[in-house]
Amino acid sequence: MLQTKTVRVGSNVLIGSGHPIVVQTMCNTHTSDVEATVAQCRRLAAVGSELIRITVPSMKDVPCLEEISRRLRAEGIGTPLVADIHFSPEIAMAVVPIVEKIRINPGNFHPDHEKARELFGKFIEKCKEYGRAIRIGLNHGSLGKYIIDKYGNTPEAMALAAFEWVKMCQEADFHNVVVSLKASNTVVMVQAYRRLAAMMQESGVVYPLHVGVTEAGNGDSGRIKSCVAISTLLSEGIGNTIRVSLTEDPANEIPVAQYLAHRFSSAPAPIGMSEREETILKAACDWGAPLLNHEIDDIPIEDEYLKDEILQACRRRFYKPEYIACPGCGRTLYDLENTFNKVKERTSHFKNVVIAVMGCIVNGPGEMADADYGYVGEGFGKVTLYRKKDPVLRHIPENEAVDKLVELIRRDSEQSDAGGLGD
Ligand code: SF4
Repeated sequence: MLQTKTVRVGSNVLIGSGHPIVVQTMCNTHTSDVEATVAQCRRLAAVGSELIRITVPSMKDVPCLEEISRRLRAEGIGTPLVADIHFSPEIAMAVVPIVEKIRINPGNFHPDHEKARELFGKFIEKCKEYGRAIRIGLNHGSLGKYIIDKYGNTPEAMALAAFEWVKMCQEADFHNVVVSLKASNTVVMVQAYRRLAAMMQESGVVYPLHVGVTEAGNGDSGRIKSCVAISTLLSEGIGNTIRVSLTEDPANEIPVAQYLAHRFSSAPAPIGMSEREETILKAACDWGAPLLNHEIDDIPIEDEYLKDEILQACRRRFYKPEYIACPGCGRTLYDLENTFNKVKERTSHFKNVVIAVMGCIVNGPGEMADADYGYVGEGFGKVTLYRKKDPVLRHIPENEAVDKLVELIRRDSEQSDAGGLGD
């Protein structure tokens, strides 16, 4: 394992150096629903999540977060909480006294890059004062204009963008820092982490890495996509804490993460995993790295379905549409899991398309990266459908949206077959 700084989260979780890989997940309840979020945290802690992330979409959610933390501690549940902050430096500052760790993308603190740096500097000082840990979390789909204009939209750009914030932490002598560079594309994700790990090694200060495939989807595909990429990095000693993002009950993520953590460190093995699930995860871990590294072109297994899934997860052969789906969080405003399954059922016959199903209109469009089509929940029973980055049908009632999506893809593929569609 890469020698890194040790990050302390709360009083009992250590990330990095030779410590076992830490597994974590995120609530998908509404943070304002304190009862439901406490109940979910209780369940996630019981199945072995060592950190639990909770979104804080608005200032109104800050007191809810405080109450969630208070109730959990009163019950004797000490699992550190991580506040997930998008865009707002005010909310980031407000949660520092409340939670053990804060996940931010400092690049989104302000449209003016110098102002974003200034705000991040203040945020670091406050985290130092309270002894908090932070995660600098950049995703491929949401790099921001400043970064894309400066470096492009590549794994190298992701690593360079993150490294700027890493350097600020180094210079401020603040080392309770974890970094992540997630992407839904396994090749991009692996390259970005490798590059950042190398940059940090060259700089002489290596922070632990939080490794994960974002918007991996659900079922076997989501598990396989996560395992091929995460195991490739872990096998190289890159990765100290992991999240397997699934568009399912977040408790389902934990055994998959535990399987990976146990395989690559002294973390405990999952309990009660079915033989089938273990076979799938093992095959994904065994064949992921050689396929992603182009050391082999095929895999010698008889199970054709499993072979197809692994080859597609490694982006070596596509046998069905590529699906991207966010795991959902407190911002999700519709039944994401069932809708995603419906979209998969109705679109499985299309070829060479990337289809995204995203939980919210705030981050969904940015996060769906290179999807050809996007189904994005607006809230209040309405959906916007995207073609690439363009919203082409807005405010569609939820009960019509899957039909309209299928129709949109069908019409485009007919036009494209007839030579009518540009790209
Ligand atoms: S895209 Fe999904 S996971 Fe991301 S903030 Fe929106 S609902 Fe949450």
